[in-house]
Amino acid sequence: MREYVHLKFDEMPKFWYNALSDLPFNLDPPLDPETQQPTTPEKLLKIFPGPLLEQEINDVDRYIRIPEEVLKEYAVYRPTPLIRAVFLEEFLKTPAKIYYKYEGVSPTGSHKTNTALAQAYFNKISGTDILYTETGAGQWGSALSYAGIKYGLKVNVYMVRISYLQKPARKNLMNLFEGNVTPSPSKKTKVGRRYNDDHPGSLGIAISEAMEKALDKNNAKYSLGSVLNHVLLHQTVIGLEIKEQLKKLELNPDIIIACHGGGSNFGGTILPFVPEKLEGKNIRFIACEPESCPTLTKGEYRYDFGDTGGFTPMLKMYTLGKDFVPPSIHAGGLRYHGASPIVSALLNNNLIEAQSFSQEETFKAAKLFAKLEGIIPAPESAHAIAGAIKEALKAKEEKRDKVIVFTLSGHGLFDLPAYI
Ligand SMILES: *Cc1c(COP(=O)(O)O)cnc(C)c1O
Repeated sequence: MREYVHLKFDEMPKFWYNALSDLPFNLDPPLDPETQQPTTPEKLLKIFPGPLLEQEINDVDRYIRIPEEVLKEYAVYRPTPLIRAVFLEEFLKTPAKIYYKYEGVSPTGSHKTNTALAQAYFNKISGTDILYTETGAGQWGSALSYAGIKYGLKVNVYMVRISYLQKPARKNLMNLFEGNVTPSPSKKTKVGRRYNDDHPGSLGIAISEAMEKALDKNNAKYSLGSVLNHVLLHQTVIGLEIKEQLKKLELNPDIIIACHGGGSNFGGTILPFVPEKLEGKNIRFIACEPESCPTLTKGEYRYDFGDTGGFTPMLKMYTLGKDFVPPSIHAGGLRYHGASPIVSALLNNNLIEAQSFSQEETFKAAKLFAKLEGIIPAPESAHAIAGAIKEALKAKEEKRDKVIVFTLSGHGLFDLPAYI
């Protein structure tokens, strides 16, 4: 029988888990692009509101309380289910147990709402009226637009042009939630005007455009959907819920898997389990990324800009270089040149692993999963499915009944053209 592990609302975590308090190493600080010295808080406060900046650098408090106003909005779709993929297990004839944490039940269809709501809330109470952001495939833009309505903020989204053209439904969704969408590169910014009208765009360019606009106005701030410490912090609701759900099943995970774009769903999934690993428990964490944008598997670990224009502080991370323009693959959310500093440091310390998968392999996994499990996965999430299938087949070869858990970060109902 299909196991479907639900938590009641009052079993949902009331705190986010702050991994910075437990990591056995210090993260290298963000550097000011002009001086190459650690960025000053004054400069960062022009970009982010105080409470988010505090979360970004807090390496003391192990748990950070989720405000009531955010919990109330989380309750619209959280806690999310943990589901045993029995049909997939049967099909693979694996002795492994495969569970997936399904984040596609959120209002905009992905885990991104977890941080969008938190960021919009902390901006609102800090006096922000307007948020600028970028979006690749459109999931982040729609999540932030939705969150903007909830707390009364105006949201402006720079959308990577190739996705804007490939995914008109996502633009419509953002418009439904009153988000204002501009294809990037655009003529509205200095950075954007450097490019031709037929440039496919990249997350790096779109970030530069959004930052340029945000720095221009006093009541405006910039918001990022992944990569940063506070974003991973908000996403830890995923891993904390998985912990509770596995406890109910009396199971210990052997392998935890998530796809990796900038690191937020991966970080949010695995970080709450990192202390167990540090205590010596045998548990593997695998980040799955596209072969065509192999940040973790082929990138260099060094300081780099988060954007193409060089507006953002420089972060120590795995990077393919800020000017890297990935091929126009359908997993638009995995087309980022960099990675989260926390995830990068974990990889550099051999606490996590990274694997890459081809587009063909991931869509094959996605179609199989849709037919067997009845959920059409986002092309991004399909990388985690491909990773889980690979490990389940390995467990079959080794005749070991491993417990494999992966995060299905979103549904692919807006991605049907990509499937075709
Ligand atoms: C944005 C997105 C990703 C990639 O972003 P991360 O920050 O690496 O999680 C993965 N899956 C879905 C469904 C997304 O929307």
